[in-house]
Amino acid sequence: MPTPDFFNIYDLLTTEQQLIVSTVKDFSDREIKPIIEDYARKAEFPLHLIKKFGEIGLFGATIPQEYGGGGLDYISYGLMCQEIERGDSGMRSTISVQSSLVMWPVFAFGSEEQKRKYLPGLATGELIGCFGLTEPDHGSNPAGMTTRISKTENGYLLNGSKMWISNAPFADIAIVWARDDDGKVRGLIAERGMEGFSTPEIHNKWSLRASATGELVFDNVFIPEENILPNASGLKAPLLCLDKARYGIAWGVIGAAMDCYETAVKYAAERIQFDKPIAAFQLTQKKLAEMLTEITKAQLLAWRLGTLMNEGKATTTQISMAKRNNVAMALNVARECRQILGAMGISGDYPIMRHVMNLESVITYEGTHDIHLLILGAEITGIQAFK
Ligand code: FAD
Repeated sequence: MPTPDFFNIYDLLTTEQQLIVSTVKDFSDREIKPIIEDYARKAEFPLHLIKKFGEIGLFGATIPQEYGGGGLDYISYGLMCQEIERGDSGMRSTISVQSSLVMWPVFAFGSEEQKRKYLPGLATGELIGCFGLTEPDHGSNPAGMTTRISKTENGYLLNGSKMWISNAPFADIAIVWARDDDGKVRGLIAERGMEGFSTPEIHNKWSLRASATGELVFDNVFIPEENILPNASGLKAPLLCLDKARYGIAWGVIGAAMDCYETAVKYAAERIQFDKPIAAFQLTQKKLAEMLTEITKAQLLAWRLGTLMNEGKATTTQISMAKRNNVAMALNVARECRQILGAMGISGDYPIMRHVMNLESVITYEGTHDIHLLILGAEITGIQAFK
């Protein structure tokens, strides 16, 4: 049973969900934890994991089985994110992008032909996708996007660029959001190898180092009509994708916090100062007690959000609250744990500093901490403060 579980969340799970969480935790312990520090140090994505992610059903967990997905519920998907992020936020990012930002829009907005063409390969990991919304000059305000498609014979010409795109350097396809001749936001599928399409890698990151991030550059790329997502129209379409991914993040970061917390509990019991384990000092106990409380609150928030997702009742604002709260919780927990380990806290011999650095991206991507606060503020007051 994955720990900590102070409020017996495990007992709230179905037998199938219990099996999923245990299986994915074992996978994370076996396949991610032993290698990830090395890949993070090298700033390299462990490409060999893609096939394994596919094999154990981590891609497209909620997509119906007829398209190769898992046909599972949202709590199962959340638990997968949690256990993979216990290993590394970058690995969970790849799963979030593939499942929520690539497979889900193809499923929700794609034609039957597009679903049959792309989803089975994406589910096995034979195909990898990325999601291009952010641009160099438009991050928090995607409505300002300048990437354009203009009508030409049998299709469109795509021009513009996207920035900070997870998986871009090795993705086979990209879900791209661009404005058409009428100024309407449209979604399309760009394929590697299309003339004028390149994906330069972004180097020099101190966060999510084991995740590959890049640009998407489009120079008069011909996009055939059949690569346009027919049912995506307006900015609402990419924002609905972000809802799904943010939901997964709200669960995922709990895994990073759990890994830091468990490392710190063990270290505090073993590290002797002033002739006592540092766990014996009240200040250490205060840190640990508060961390466990915050992790538990985040688990309950994620679990309840999962039940609302399963009922189709979760709102964008509820998802914003959970993403914002749980990422900040995880970052605070990781920083506190780093302190408990003293100098050892900065060493790559322990996972904590990597989690701290990773979470600095997670608190920014998929809507920054402050933007989610303003989304909540707008719901409370009826006044949008971010425009
Ligand atoms: P900005 O929008 O420039 O914001 C800078 C600061 O200003 C922030 O603190 C923000 O909160 C604040 N701010 C902005 N507007 C307001 C306002 N109205 N009121 C108050 N404060 C405001 N994007 C994708 O499309 N696909 C991906 O796969 C993807 N992966 C990513 C991976 C990584 C590692 C990172 C770091 C980013 C990724 N992103 C991706 C981009 C990410 O979603 C953006 O970085 C994020 O939306 C913020 O945009 P920005 O960086 O341009 O910051």
